[in-house]
Amino acid sequence: MKYLIWLVVLLAVVVWFQRAKKSMLAGNDAAGEGEAGAEPGMPRPKPSRFRRRTDSNVETMVQCAHCGIHFPASEAVVHASGAYYCSEEHRRLASF
Ligand SMILES: [Zn+2]
Repeated sequence: MKYLIWLVVLLAVVVWFQRAKKSMLAGNDAAGEGEAGAEPGMPRPKPSRFRRRTDSNVETMVQCAHCGIHFPASEAVVHASGAYYCSEEHRRLASF
């Protein structure tokens, strides 16, 4: 019974270690290691920096016409009049 616990612990350590090793390899030499699985023909354009710039930093902020809270435009509920609302409920409340 005691051995079973040790086996589980050992397995967890091994899995953790392999995962750490894998991420370290991906970070250091992505060019050599990652080419096998990546899409062919497309050079990868620095994934992390590219992603950060596109979807979080340059998000347009809008203000809810009902409660006045600021939130990203992608989450906005737009009324027929063109007004932005933070939620479906506020849009409904404002239309009454
Ligand atoms: Zn609101």
